[in-house]
Amino acid sequence: MKVTVLTGGVGGAKLVLGLAHALPPADVTAIVNTGDDFTHLGLRVSPDIDTLLYTLSGKANTAQGWGREGESWSFMDAVRSLAGEDWFALGDGDLALHVLRTARLAAGEPLSTIVGDFARRWGIASTVLPMTDDAVATILDTDEGELAFQRYFVARRCEPRVKAIRFEGADRAHPAPGALSAIAGADAILIAPSNPFLSVDPLLAVPGLRQALADAQAPVVAISPLVGGRAVKGPTGKLMVELGVDQGVAAITAHYQGVIDGMLVDERDAPADLGIASARTDTLMLALDDRIRVARSALAFARSLRR
Ligand code: GDP
Repeated sequence: MKVTVLTGGVGGAKLVLGLAHALPPADVTAIVNTGDDFTHLGLRVSPDIDTLLYTLSGKANTAQGWGREGESWSFMDAVRSLAGEDWFALGDGDLALHVLRTARLAAGEPLSTIVGDFARRWGIASTVLPMTDDAVATILDTDEGELAFQRYFVARRCEPRVKAIRFEGADRAHPAPGALSAIAGADAILIAPSNPFLSVDPLLAVPGLRQALADAQAPVVAISPLVGGRAVKGPTGKLMVELGVDQGVAAITAHYQGVIDGMLVDERDAPADLGIASARTDTLMLALDDRIRVARSALAFARSLRR
């Protein structure tokens, strides 16, 4: 069963790892948000893609929730000693991805080729694709003015009030090579339990990807990022209040209206008529077993749906 999943970073990577255990890993394709990508200290950083690479190769620091396990920080110490910017932490091992990516991009290689090579080197049998090789940047209009994603998320810890979100460059972006065929050829398409506004919307803003989802033969199922009405982590709930969206799964389902055929809801959330097919299960993914179990539930639900 070939599965294609649209994903952000941490929340989505949990599901993708579960899928890579529930299925032959080569049957899994992750199309990853690149709206969070930015240039820092001259280096191109792709946080969501790198989270997928670390998670799928067993290198992720799961306790911390980002970055590499067993990371060291000599580079950051040296940056600080020279009064360099230290609001975004780049570990010594992590640096290798950014240095190599930056050098290869400067030499004219597309991001998708570079990411594919990294994944192969680390023995990842699933396909990890950036949503696009073109530059797309998530920009938040806040009560502190316009902030690029990492300035809002990391430097300002999601504290500013958000009035609107836009994805600069998305309307001119083309899906990365392989993304459209991965959607057209899938037996099931999943939208990971990622932040709908910051992680999934950038993907849906790439015109070719949205159209491919509409044209796909396979059902599209979203896994709710809410557990008991609340985001497990991150600003999803806070954003919903600030953007004037109703709270809860119904609002997230409405947000994905026209894109999804079904919604997998956490069993702690009260049953409600969502206006589309839904199924309920425990979607909290703490250990690997949970991730595999949620992946299997999502696949079984998708199999029960038809377009
Ligand atoms: P980021 O790009 O690293 O911020 O991560 P994502 O956008 O992929 O994930 C953030 C979202 O994942 C939040 O809305 C969380 O509620 C959701 N999330 C994290 N862990 C879980 C989990 O175990 N189960 C479910 N259902 N959602 C989760």
